[in-house]
Amino acid sequence: MHHPSPHPSRAEASGESLLSPPEDTTDASGDVIIDGVAASPGIAIGPVYLLKRESGRVEAERIDPATAAHETERFEKAVSQAERALSSIISVTREKLGEESSAIFEAQQLMLRDDALYKAVVHHIEEQHSSASYAIDQVMTRYRQRLEGSDSPYLRQRSDDLLEVQQRLITYLRRGELLADVPPDTIIISQALTAAEMMLFSRRGILGCGLDYSGPTSHVAIMARALGLPAVVSLHDLSERVETGDMIVLDGIRGRVVLRPSDDTLRIFQKRNRRFQEIRTQQRELAPLPAETTDGVTIDLHANIEIAQETDLLDDHGADGIGLVRTEVLLLLQGSITQPEEVQYKLYRQIVEAAAPRPTTIRVMDLGGDKMLPLARRENNPFLGWRGIRVLLDKPDLLLPQLRALLRCAQHGPVRLLLPMVTTRREVQHVHKLLDRAREELASRHVPFEANLPVGIMVEVPSVALQADVFAEVCDFFSIGSNDLTQYTLAVDRGNDLVADRYSELHPAVLTLIKRTTDAARAAGIPVSVCGEVAGNPMATPILLGLGVDQLSASPIYIPGVKRLIRRIAHAEARSLVRKALDLHDAEDVQRLLTDWFHTHVGHLPLGLDGETLGAHGPQVASS
Ligand code: PEP
Ligand code: MG
Repeated sequence: MHHPSPHPSRAEASGESLLSPPEDTTDASGDVIIDGVAASPGIAIGPVYLLKRESGRVEAERIDPATAAHETERFEKAVSQAERALSSIISVTREKLGEESSAIFEAQQLMLRDDALYKAVVHHIEEQHSSASYAIDQVMTRYRQRLEGSDSPYLRQRSDDLLEVQQRLITYLRRGELLADVPPDTIIISQALTAAEMMLFSRRGILGCGLDYSGPTSHVAIMARALGLPAVVSLHDLSERVETGDMIVLDGIRGRVVLRPSDDTLRIFQKRNRRFQEIRTQQRELAPLPAETTDGVTIDLHANIEIAQETDLLDDHGADGIGLVRTEVLLLLQGSITQPEEVQYKLYRQIVEAAAPRPTTIRVMDLGGDKMLPLARRENNPFLGWRGIRVLLDKPDLLLPQLRALLRCAQHGPVRLLLPMVTTRREVQHVHKLLDRAREELASRHVPFEANLPVGIMVEVPSVALQADVFAEVCDFFSIGSNDLTQYTLAVDRGNDLVADRYSELHPAVLTLIKRTTDAARAAGIPVSVCGEVAGNPMATPILLGLGVDQLSASPIYIPGVKRLIRRIAHAEARSLVRKALDLHDAEDVQRLLTDWFHTHVGHLPLGLDGETLGAHGPQVASS
């Protein structure tokens, strides 16, 4: 796969600007091909829907007077949404930053329901025939100007709060408009999307999605895979080069986009698409067979689940269980992460029962990083900030209902509890104390639950892998989060297209940390899984097996391909491959070693979902 991101040495050599866009590739047929990175397999052919983020400006917009009631209703709905969001921000802020900080948001909440302000907006809609956004903009800007002109420093400061309220309301209104505008059977092209937006657009029946930013292990890419929507990311400036209605081909297997394809090209891709569907059907025939190497070592192949409907794929794709439930995604899709115990119980129970008697590993909310946090405070380095277990331990009111729900779910099937972004042993011990509290609370309510849950941690920070022996003493299992472990080890943001070609999950430094983890686990007698995206890439399978991993967990669609490969290789040969890989210096060396190994031991490179062999850089194994 060709990565077109601007590499400094190339740019310097040619004298071009460091941030100049990559050149197009034009093939023999004259088609314009833009390379990106494959994020979710499948081929989409259709017209573009270009999703442009609007600037903060609100245009004057007049409505038909007959629709004033509808516009007022939209305003009311945005106010309710803002109230709910502010309540959750207030509760988190109070805990984390104290009463003083939450007072700002309380003031904003009061402004939302200020009678005069509210009536003025409604009046503007009704009398001036303004859209809700324009009425809010006009009325609130006038109020702010009045506050800014005040002699009181207190009132002058309130002007900033009112601006936040104004922007929040307009954002909610626009989000609704954005969604209403997206026509079905189009391919969304945008600079960036959030995981939640991806989910909403999929419900509108879109065909696929191409993004300028993001890497293949970003959460928006993971969501596209969960939804089975073809997606390509790291397309740089594609969104500036297409218009709504342009015909394109989006190839989520190879990671590229063809602009305004010729009839011949269309025919080729239609054929490839049929091949893709055939291969997937063939691969699923392996579903009932175990993932056993030719020398008799069985690996558990588990599924990563982001949305409850994905459990429908478990049998069909031959999953031995669920290796990672990203509960923060499930909860965000319910509209808020602060769901009561009962709601969470029902949500997880459905998943546990779908998998039973197979085991389900459920991760407590991994908030922060690039996932939404119910806090209006920006962090300079969110991936190094208030993330994962750090948030939950600072905010036990968020964790306790989830722990109670999970203890209750464990009656319905084997459940393991997984903790994200752990960096100290004390965090694990702290969770155990909270688990005791959750058990006591349930017992005092006479609610049935399963008291004994295995508790394990995500190994996704280099310090934890380095001290894996110390962590093994307080854990029942390890699950290696290769997505984060790679980004933290190599200091390469997993979601940044500018450095996507430096992100390499098979870099020898990452492999060394995985080895340290599996060695410590073996010495302590606990199992190790890999649940990052690399687990779904058959090109990486011999390395992961050779490193001593017991379980792999990936998006269900990747399970058959990995199983097919495991059934063709010997564990002993994978171990000797790893001994060589660990002595290498960089990711390219590992890539070369792997390519040779496949030719010698399998006869060809692993087959991708299109039935063609995965090239030197299979999906998600970028070179460095
Ligand atoms: C990981 O980091 O590899 C992982 C599985 O967790 P997430 O992708 O949710 O950060
Ligand atoms: Mg992670």
